[in-house]
Amino acid sequence: MKNHKNAQLFKNAQQVIPGGVNSPVRAFKSVGAEPIFIKKAKGPFLYDEDGNRYIDYCLSWGPMILGHADKYVLSEVKKVMSKGTSYGIPTAGETQLAEMIVSAFDSIDKVRMVSSGTEAVMTALRLARGATGRDKVIKFIGGYHGHVDHMLVSAGSGLMTLGTPSSPGVPADFAKNTLLAPYNDVEAVMRLFKEYGDQIAAVIIEPVAGNMGTVLPKPYFLNEIRSLCNQNKSILIFDEVISCFRLCYGGAQTQYKIKPDLTTLGKIIGGGFPIGAVGGKASIMNKLSPDGAIYQAGTLSGNPVCVAAGIATLKQLETSKPYRKLDKLTKTLCDGITEQLTGKSIPHKINRIGSMFTLFFTDCEVTDFDTASKCDTERYGNYFRQMLNMGIYLPPSQFEANFLSTAHTKKHIGKTIKAAGKLRL
Ligand SMILES: *Cc1c(COP(=O)(O)O)cnc(C)c1O
Repeated sequence: MKNHKNAQLFKNAQQVIPGGVNSPVRAFKSVGAEPIFIKKAKGPFLYDEDGNRYIDYCLSWGPMILGHADKYVLSEVKKVMSKGTSYGIPTAGETQLAEMIVSAFDSIDKVRMVSSGTEAVMTALRLARGATGRDKVIKFIGGYHGHVDHMLVSAGSGLMTLGTPSSPGVPADFAKNTLLAPYNDVEAVMRLFKEYGDQIAAVIIEPVAGNMGTVLPKPYFLNEIRSLCNQNKSILIFDEVISCFRLCYGGAQTQYKIKPDLTTLGKIIGGGFPIGAVGGKASIMNKLSPDGAIYQAGTLSGNPVCVAAGIATLKQLETSKPYRKLDKLTKTLCDGITEQLTGKSIPHKINRIGSMFTLFFTDCEVTDFDTASKCDTERYGNYFRQMLNMGIYLPPSQFEANFLSTAHTKKHIGKTIKAAGKLRL
């Protein structure tokens, strides 16, 4: 693998950008490597500045479900762009995208567009607090909800304690309103409700966790969280920024048949452009200004270019119904990797749902952050670097999800499994 230009570009970037990157995990620190710099992408492939080609299983962290530079998305975006790129005044496209989201989600009557998943979460939390008049929020350890102050909180000593800031700059006064429970642990949530019930505005959860690696909810876990929220008049927020339109046309809530009160969306709904959205019951959504008193705004919210890319992406997902095929292809890939690693006696577990999966280097089941943390991250780094050298780009951290796109074919999967066969870990 040639790496001359990449190395120089990283040096230059570090002079003017903190850490040389605009989002920390891109620095490849946790896999003991230096970042590659991408020149272009097409279908399932990334091409770096040194001319190396990679099969991409990260897909910009999820959005590129149709593969890179999809023809229809590009043509729709170009059409819109030639008429101007931002007006700060309503456009018909915003209503069209909102209608598509409303019709895909039973739990969503109304939806407000924002510019990122982080913003969507911020808005959902403010809505939940404004609607209930309560301040506390339960989140799950290892769940990621963007870089919102109230969500950058980790467990203090003992799991029942109030949260403590997980980043300098987050006031302890904010963190104390965030309560933490282990993922998949209903009893812990019950204990929190017992102690703080009438102070809890909301429970926020990734219905399928994607940010400690892929972790699936245990049977009835989400149902029990739903009933606890009902009993305590707290708002249930599903953070579906990753899972929306990833597992099926709709959200994980469609697959698991559970209706949250609010849902945060992002990634796929922007087709590779910056976007986010919060949707839910009309009775809650109407509390947003200008109809309600809860303030929220954005200069570029509902940007016509982002919205056009989102519509073009959802239209194709709705008509081509690729989910069964994606599921089958991803299963083939995971089965193949397992076969290769088992042949080499390398302990591992793969958590998978549809076209989303994580290969964990561990011999115990991964069901929460604690079990995910027991993985051999050194071995993951080694795996990442060797696969990169063989032209396979994986998420640069053990604790992330891999994704497939409709542009991936059996040929790419076969190549990837073959590369896994050559690993020396
Ligand atoms: C990516 C992600 C976010 C944050 O979205 P940004 O667009 O990066 O701000 C929030 N929640 C979940 C579950 C995510 O995966």
